[in-house]
Amino acid sequence: MQPMTRRSWTRLAGAGLLALPRLAQAVQSASSPYRRPKLKITDIRTAEIRAHGYQLHVRVYTDQGIYGHGEATDSAHGGIPLIQMFRRFLIGQDPLNVDYLFERIRTGGIFAGAQAGQYVTALTAVEIALWDLAGKALGLPVYQLLGGRMRDRIRIYCDSQTEDPGDPQAEAKIAQIKGLGFTACKIDIDDAADPARWDKVNWTASNGEIDSMLKKIAFMREQLDKGGPPRRIDLAVDMHGRYDMTTGRRVAREVEPFKLLFLEEPVPAENVDAMRDVRENTTTPICCGENVFLRHGFRPILEKRAADIIMPDIQKAGGLLECRKIADMAHTYYVPVAPHCVVSPIGTMASCHVCAAIPNFLVLEWHWIQRLELWRSFVKEGDIIDKGFVTVTDRPGIGVEMDEEAARKAQVPGTPWFVPNKEAA
Ligand code: MG
Repeated sequence: MQPMTRRSWTRLAGAGLLALPRLAQAVQSASSPYRRPKLKITDIRTAEIRAHGYQLHVRVYTDQGIYGHGEATDSAHGGIPLIQMFRRFLIGQDPLNVDYLFERIRTGGIFAGAQAGQYVTALTAVEIALWDLAGKALGLPVYQLLGGRMRDRIRIYCDSQTEDPGDPQAEAKIAQIKGLGFTACKIDIDDAADPARWDKVNWTASNGEIDSMLKKIAFMREQLDKGGPPRRIDLAVDMHGRYDMTTGRRVAREVEPFKLLFLEEPVPAENVDAMRDVRENTTTPICCGENVFLRHGFRPILEKRAADIIMPDIQKAGGLLECRKIADMAHTYYVPVAPHCVVSPIGTMASCHVCAAIPNFLVLEWHWIQRLELWRSFVKEGDIIDKGFVTVTDRPGIGVEMDEEAARKAQVPGTPWFVPNKEAA
């Protein structure tokens, strides 16, 4: 085989990243005697999507034409200037040293908010793009780089966005979820607009509010059990960390007969002692952590036994390897992981690589039931969920590729779309 020049690399890349077998072959030519690819980061570009909330897509480019694609969400707002700031840690670097680059950016920002929030979320998008890039460069799926696969299929739960028994469409919507084959779903029972609520600011639920919550759960349970064995479909319930201790503790006790998969954040997650108090007063499994960042955020939750289940958002808590580390830490406390997930099929498949690699995976969230058309067209591989499960792909990297024409239907109007930076190397 002829040695590869930079020009021939570019030609290969121009032929499209779908030509992955040829790409992997080329990578092996531009590599060390032990076949480690030689790559340098040349640019980082972004695009913004609004689907279930806001998603920031990031691509890390290299001198060999291949790029990695990452996605972050929720606290990704304000992430673009942060990613521009990260360029000084990334340009010219070897992208295969993923954890090194992660740690450089994290510790480089200790006075800039690198402990949580937007900084970590922006870093998360870059970290995921680097893993996608590493997988493509090495010709391996990301789960292989995270330690290998524990399971082939990832169980998904559907966030129903259907919790109002008074909604004339509710029964049809629940039937749709069952028809799609999900084995678990979730409803929200917090309601800022409940007429039984006496105060706009205080979140102590009145008796009327608690009655409404129980009615929603009973309705959902009845609909899920219709035409099948009882409790075959698991039900989780979210309170969004809004209520006070009195309410959180009371609801956790009152929902015990429903044998929930979990009750999510009956009180805010930032007071670990309060969460532990709720947990110690109920048999309902308590889940928390969708707004908790890094191992450092999850450490006190685990040490104080404040949750039965943790739910890091893999697209904001620090990325793929960081969430593997969080899961490993949880495993030493025999705590399972049910990641929060509201992102596109790209971020969802990235999460699935982590879920495949960890021993203590429980179930992964999916939040696009109201955006099925966009979900099914967002990546060239089509709908990655089949009967409530995702089969983890063996393709290199994350293993799914954005269909740009479809994805751009959800582009935030007026925002750049992976525009090259002028000073790109
Ligand atoms: Mg939630």
